[in-house]
Formats: sequence, C-alpha cells, structure tokens
Amino acid sequence: MSGIRPTGFLHLGNYFGALRNYVRMQEAYNCYFMVADLHALTTLKETPELKGHVRRVLAENIAAGLDPDKVALYCQSHVPETAELYLFLNMLAYVGELEKTPTFKDKVRLQPQNVNAGLLTYPVLQAADIMLHRAALVPVGKDQEQHLEMARNYVNRFNQRYGEVFPEPYAFNFGEELVKVPSLDGAGKMSKSENQLATLYLSDDDETIRKKISKAKTESGGGSVEQMPDSVKNLFQLMRLVGKEEDAEIFMGHYNAGTIRYGDMKKKLAEDMVTFISPIREKAEAIRNDEVYLRRVMEQGAEKARESAKVTIQLAKQAIGLNYY
Ligand code: ADP
Repeated sequence: MSGIRPTGFLHLGNYFGALRNYVRMQEAYNCYFMVADLHALTTLKETPELKGHVRRVLAENIAAGLDPDKVALYCQSHVPETAELYLFLNMLAYVGELEKTPTFKDKVRLQPQNVNAGLLTYPVLQAADIMLHRAALVPVGKDQEQHLEMARNYVNRFNQRYGEVFPEPYAFNFGEELVKVPSLDGAGKMSKSENQLATLYLSDDDETIRKKISKAKTESGGGSVEQMPDSVKNLFQLMRLVGKEEDAEIFMGHYNAGTIRYGDMKKKLAEDMVTFISPIREKAEAIRNDEVYLRRVMEQGAEKARESAKVTIQLAKQAIGLNYY
C-alpha cells in the first residue's frame, strides 16, 4: 500500500521513490495505491485545483506502467472507511509525539498562518491508509522512513490494547536501500513544491529538461571520490538511475583523472533524461484527457479498496469492542 499527494506535478523523486516500485510490485503482490487527496487538504488552499491534480497523478501512475486492472488504484476520499480508522487511531496517538515529528515542524515553519490539526495528525492519517488494508509492505522513498516507524507504533498500540488485528508495516524497496532523488541545486531532495528549477517533472518538455540539467550545480575539476562534492555525486546518481552504468563509469574515470568536463557529462545526462521522461509524459498527457477512462479507473479502484477496507473496519470494531449485537 502506498500513496502520493495530488499537490502538484510528479517528479523524478516520486518516480524512483514510489512509482517504479508500485509497477514492480503489481506482478507479485495484492496492491493498493491511492491518490492522497485528503492529505493534500492539510496544505492546499486552492481546492478547485484538486481535480486537475488528481487526474494528473492518476494519469502519471498509469503512464509509468501501473495497470488499474491488476491493482486497486483509488482516491483516498472515495473510501470513507479511511476516516473511520483514522478516528480510532487518533485515540492512540499522543499530541506530544506528533508535535515532535520533523515533518510537522517543517510544515509549521513553511505555513505558520495555517497550523491546522490535520497537519499535526498527518502521520495518523497515513497510518490509517496503510492499516486499512492490513498492509505489511509500503513502497516509499527514504523521506518516509520516520512516518513508517510511527505507523508501526500505532499498529503495536492497537494490537496490544485491543487484540492482534494489524501486521507491522515496513518501507519496501525489494531488499534494496530506500531511494532519495536529490535536487539539481545540490541541496536536499527533489520535491513537488520546492525549487521548481531544480526538480525534474515527468511532465517537463525536452527543452525544459535540457535547460534544467545544463544549469545543475557542479564544481570545477575532479579529484578523489571521497572528496566528491554532493552536487557532483547527485549527477552521478541521476545518470545511474536513468542511463547506463557504463556511461557513469566512463565519467567516473575522467573524474578520478581530473579530466572531467561537466558540460559533456550534463549533455549525456540530459539526453538520457529526455529518453526516459518523454514517453511517460506523452502517455500521461493522452490519459489525462480521457475523462471517461479516468472515471472508470477511480470507480473500479474505490470498489476494490472498499471491499478490503470494510473487512478491516469490521475486525477493528470487534477488537475494540464496538460490536453490541
Ligand atoms: P512530495 O514530497 O514531492 O510532495 P509526496 O509527499 O506526495 O511527494 O510523496 C510521494 C512519494 O514520493 C513518497 O513515497 C515519497 O517517499 C516519494 N518521494 C518524494 N520525493 C522523493 C525524492 N526526492 N526521492 C525519493 N522519493 C521521493
């Protein structure tokens, strides 16, 4: 189980942290992937934008290779059982621990005029999303590790207080380390809202991709790998993600010899990136404009998700003692 907020355009971080694993998991697991529209309400003020964002996220999920017939691909608000479980979990969550969550503190800094209770209980809603399908594996990027730890806390508290209902959920990446796709400015991760020029979106056109990569931060000269600046490490990481390992090795050889030309490296990276992003962009564009198809995807996804959610709510209510007849 996993989800992405419809708060903007999906980017390379969303792809490698989340989407790529969704697509790989759909063959072997019973999967639930959702558009986290309720989560988006904690930060989004312009709700008329929601509809477009939701359609974009769905289209980009499908364009990246997700098959709505193989998985439950749904909108969070179409599954009201989410809110019910969220309410139960709120009784197990402590205000003190929520206030200490780093993502909450970040949001308080970013939107001091809108520190709503939904922001505070964001990790509780996220735990509800996961627990709703009694999911054990959660394909997410590295930035979500701490939220997963909180979800495990809520699972354990619930199971201890009321009886064993939920498995412990873990962040999942096929036995490999979780991914963090870096920003092109050498600082932090790519993200939907921060520094758009340093983020590569799945909807960027070829010229925009080339321009962003040509402006990516680099240093001059080469040197030892131990002393490699983060901005250069980032370029190598991106090249390994979208291009060929052999090409990265060639540039690494130049780096070690002190003969690297970052202009050449960026040109190669830009072409690899265009080859990678353009088919996803074109496919997503076509899907996004097909309202009838997207509606069918949402309805079918909600139906599958509610089937599983209803069973969980029944089990949770029984365990809590909310079954009076
Ligand atoms: P954003 O931070 O861009 O708003 P979300 O919070 O909606 O994205 O996260 C959706 C998924 O994308 C999560 O699984 C998250 O871990 C993953 N993700 C977001 N940014 C990155 C990144 N830069 N590198 C790896 N994974 C990421």
